[in-house]
Amino acid sequence: MNAPRTLRSRLWILIGWMVLLLPPTAASAASLKLSGGLQPGMAVLLHVTDFPAGSRLSGTLDREAFPITPQGEAILALDMERQPQSVQLQVVITPPGGKPEILTRTLPVPKRQYKEERIELPKKKVDLDQPDMSRANQETEAIAATYRLRDGRTGFEKGFRQPASGRFSGVFGSRRILNGQPRKPHNGVDIAAPSGTPVTTIAPGTVVLAGRDYFFTGNTLVIHHGHGVISLYAHLERMQVREGEWLEAGTPIGTIGMTGRATGPHLHWGVLVRGARVDPMALPGIRQKAD
Ligand SMILES: [Zn+2]
Repeated sequence: MNAPRTLRSRLWILIGWMVLLLPPTAASAASLKLSGGLQPGMAVLLHVTDFPAGSRLSGTLDREAFPITPQGEAILALDMERQPQSVQLQVVITPPGGKPEILTRTLPVPKRQYKEERIELPKKKVDLDQPDMSRANQETEAIAATYRLRDGRTGFEKGFRQPASGRFSGVFGSRRILNGQPRKPHNGVDIAAPSGTPVTTIAPGTVVLAGRDYFFTGNTLVIHHGHGVISLYAHLERMQVREGEWLEAGTPIGTIGMTGRATGPHLHWGVLVRGARVDPMALPGIRQKAD
C-alpha cells in the first residue's frame, strides 16, 4: 500500500520538473540582427550582438558554413537562381571555457521574378566557332578559379561603394535572349558611361585576376574582399592594377571601355558571395549612392 504523498515530496517533484524544463545552458543576451530581408540574388549583413567577450563564432545558412568576424559581422547571400521558401540561419557562440549557445532563425524567402531582355549581337559573337569557343572556355575557367579562392582579410567590413557613375543600362537577373536563344541570366549590373570614365574599387581588397582581352568580358579584374565576397569589373578600356595588389576602397583600377562582347562602352559589375551571384546594388552602403 502506497503512503500518501506528503506536501514536501510533492514540492520536490515540482522542483524536479522545473529543472527538467530549464534550457540546458543559460542563454546570454546575444541576438541576431539582419540589415534586411534575404531574397534570391540578395546579400544582407548579419550582426551578432551582445555575445560574451572572446567568444568563438560560427554560422550556417541552410547547413552551409559561413565565417563571422570576431566583432560578430558576416555577409549572408542567396544565389539569384535559388528559390527556397525559407532558409535556416544558425549561429553557434562558444564563450571561452563555456558551453556553446545556439541561436536559430528561420528566414522566409519571397519569390523573385526577373525581367526578360532581348539582345541582338553579331552572329560570330553568339555562335562561337571552335577556336573562339575553346579560348572563351579557358577564360571562363580562369575567372571561375578565382571564385573558389578564399581570402581571410575582411575588406568588406567598411561597407561598399559604387565603382563608377553613369546610366544603369542593364539590370541584375534579367533572363537574356541573345539573337533569339535563351542564355544565362545577367549576373551583374551594367553602368554605361563614356570610354575613359574612371572605375574604382567597391571595398578594400586584393586583386586576384587581371585578365587581358577576354572573349566575353574583355579586360577583366576580379577583387577579393574577404569571407568569399568578390567583385568583378568587365569590358575595361584600361587596367591600372596588378594581380596580388591590396587596394583601399575607392582606388582607381581602370577605365570604362567596350572590350570583349559589348555593344557600347559600359562597366559590367558583378558580385559573388561564396559563389552566390547577388545584385551588386544590394550591398550595404550602396543604397546611399556615393556619387
Ligand atoms: Zn553586364
